[in-house]
Amino acid sequence: MAIWELDATSELYPMVGRLVERYHSHLSEARITLYANDKNRNKANKIIIAEASKASAKMKASTNADFTLTVYMTPWSDLTMSQKKACLDHELCHCGVHYEPVKEAVGSGRGGRQRFKVVRDEYGRIQYTNEIKRNENGEPKWRLLPHDLEEFRDIVARHGIWDEDIQAFKEVLDRSCVDNSSNTEESIRGDD
Ligand SMILES: [Zn+2]
Repeated sequence: MAIWELDATSELYPMVGRLVERYHSHLSEARITLYANDKNRNKANKIIIAEASKASAKMKASTNADFTLTVYMTPWSDLTMSQKKACLDHELCHCGVHYEPVKEAVGSGRGGRQRFKVVRDEYGRIQYTNEIKRNENGEPKWRLLPHDLEEFRDIVARHGIWDEDIQAFKEVLDRSCVDNSSNTEESIRGDD
């Protein structure tokens, strides 16, 4: 046996449910199916503990899942309970949804119908509303999201905080160090 779907009674389902409720409200309509794999998987010689995927149309038709999360049993079983929660929370951060873009009126077209244009910033980035984009059946249009920060340790060692993504990450890290020093008891003990 290499990969299997976790039983609905698995302790991971309530963990995922609580994380969605607390931090990922955009996933409240998402069907997330959990899998376990007892074969190890490495990428560029780094251990993969878990991974998130968006279900393909075929998979959705057969399993009804919107996303799948797979945990790799060997590294997973080495984690503490708070690390397991962090790991699942991380995978849920990859599970995103498309949002409607901000549009501005740009005069009227033929027949007097109002025309709209998607608003972009000076770098060409689209500006989004908080409204979830839906398909013709009213279902959210799901997507996978990349990490907030992609960087090499060597670059930070040589050039320091050279861009805003690293700066933003450092600020969060500084804050979480302060928070965690007062919360350690709870995060070790907590199961919710
Ligand atoms: Zn990731």
